[in-house]
Amino acid sequence: TTEDQWRPFNRSRVYMADLESTLHYSLRLELAAHPVIKGEALSALQRYISVLAKYFPGRPVVRNLLKSVDTWLKGQNDTELSYSSLRDALDNIAEVPDAALPEGVRWVGCQGSMPHFRRYPCGMWTLFHVLTVQAEEAAGKDPQEVLQAMRSYVHSFFGCRACATHFENMAKDSMSHVGTLSTAMLWLWSRHNHVNNRLAGALSEDPHFPKIQWPSPELCPSCHGVKKSGEHTWNQEELLTFLRSHFSSEHLLSDYLE
Ligand code: FAD
Repeated sequence: TTEDQWRPFNRSRVYMADLESTLHYSLRLELAAHPVIKGEALSALQRYISVLAKYFPGRPVVRNLLKSVDTWLKGQNDTELSYSSLRDALDNIAEVPDAALPEGVRWVGCQGSMPHFRRYPCGMWTLFHVLTVQAEEAAGKDPQEVLQAMRSYVHSFFGCRACATHFENMAKDSMSHVGTLSTAMLWLWSRHNHVNNRLAGALSEDPHFPKIQWPSPELCPSCHGVKKSGEHTWNQEELLTFLRSHFSSEHLLSDYLE
């Protein structure tokens, strides 16, 4: 049972095991529900793999695999792709040296107190926060690249269809205003808090991981301020500094990796 396998973890840190588990779940389970990928879904897949190949701050063997899948996908000229051919590329049947995507999931920071809590959706948010921070670290050229990849992936593939509709509505409202890499980090942070706010107290909330306006004052004291009127405010400069550090590649923990 899940209780037997509970992995102790630090709640104020980000774990590579969650990111790799998210990739496995997304690429080998969620996408497998689409035997043929074409049109809008195919371009969504291409954008997603492209940002992963550019920015996923993983172990060299995982990065090599993502780069080889990206190169393979960019070389496909057909208007449709079968999931089984993608799966062969993911499983590296061409035997590109030192390239692999670990099999299976090992949730750590995204563990839930019950099997239906947290896990993949938690991993998905974490993955994209990390990617927005990596895009800035790597001096990406297009401030919307990572956000648009997330938007189209969620729209075409994310299993929770109600989530996808909500996210698309938020994207339609304001994603086009994002003009810098740091604004992209803040956009995702603020939209995620918006979702936290909407879901606080809902049945989907893990009672051991209540939905809060994140980061808490304990996690980032300087991110929080108060106006003279007594109203809560966020200190955006401090928040950016915090996000850059919390989701940075050097700060990721490698406990529980295979
Ligand atoms: P999550 O919200 O998944 O967050 C994961 C971790 O990220 C947290 O533990 C925390 O460490 C950190 N974090 C929290 N807030 C922020 C923030 N603002 N910025 C940066 N990091 C943060 N569920 C629904 O029931 N209805 C929906 O409409 C819905 N829409 C979703 C849309 C998307 C795109 C995604 C990826 C998920 C959606 N979900 C939705 C799932 C839901 O948001 C949670 O992922 C799920 O309930 C698990 O919550 P969690 O406690 O693991 O924290």
